[in-house]
Amino acid sequence: CFITFEGIDGAGKTTQLTRLARRLDTAGARVVQTREPGGTFLGDKIRAMLLDSENHMMTARTEALLYAASRAQHVEEVIQPALAAGHIVLCDRFVDASIAYQGGGLQLGAQAVAAVNQFALSGCSPDLTILFHLPIATARTRLAASRGQAALDRIELRDDAYFLRVQEAFMALAARDPQRFRIVDAGLEPDVLEQEIHEIVWKYITQ
Ligand code: ATP
Ligand code: C5P
Ligand code: MG
Repeated sequence: CFITFEGIDGAGKTTQLTRLARRLDTAGARVVQTREPGGTFLGDKIRAMLLDSENHMMTARTEALLYAASRAQHVEEVIQPALAAGHIVLCDRFVDASIAYQGGGLQLGAQAVAAVNQFALSGCSPDLTILFHLPIATARTRLAASRGQAALDRIELRDDAYFLRVQEAFMALAARDPQRFRIVDAGLEPDVLEQEIHEIVWKYITQ
């Protein structure tokens, strides 16, 4: 079972993915927790290139291809073998992030980004996606409080219009595929959200 967490920066994905992994692990499930961009040795190098503010000249197409390259490596090296071994794979961001950020945010278009990723994915797609919904201002406040403005990466420094396009693209993806997506209110208290996500996932994997 392949489960992804999506949503804008600071929405609380990593916090909740770690909590869910711990709960499933305690319940005896075999869980692999991973993330994008990254998740492999090579993927982490691509991640560093993507987030490095020295790379401010990177074009939108280059950016989309680097995320797809990180994903291709991740799928073949980590995700597909783990799924084949019967593990539950929990991934912090996946292909929907590319469609939302590079397709929506950078305005490459959902279809172009989906086409590039079709090659990268080699048939791998999530079974269930938890979409964290949070107003952009709240997400920014959280990030600034946790890391400080100076520690934000190249992409987190983009303006509100960019993140609004990202948010809208995520919502459009969810509207098109209600079977796979579950939208959660990321403004809830962490403990309440943890319980809600656990119930969604537990229901899905035991159905
Ligand atoms: P990014 O996309 O940048 O990786 P994220 O979605 O993974 O962000 P987290 O790193 O989990 O978000 O959380 C961002 C900050 O918000 C952290 O300081 C975290 O402690 C805090 N936070 C997470 N969840 C909640 C919540 N439900 N309510 C309030 N604060 C939260
Ligand atoms: O989720 P995480 O903080 O690890 O992601 C790293 C950065 O990569 C974030 O700033 C996120 O916005 C960005 N990102 C992106 N496009 C993707 C995936 C992540 O711009 N497809
Ligand atoms: Mg995170």
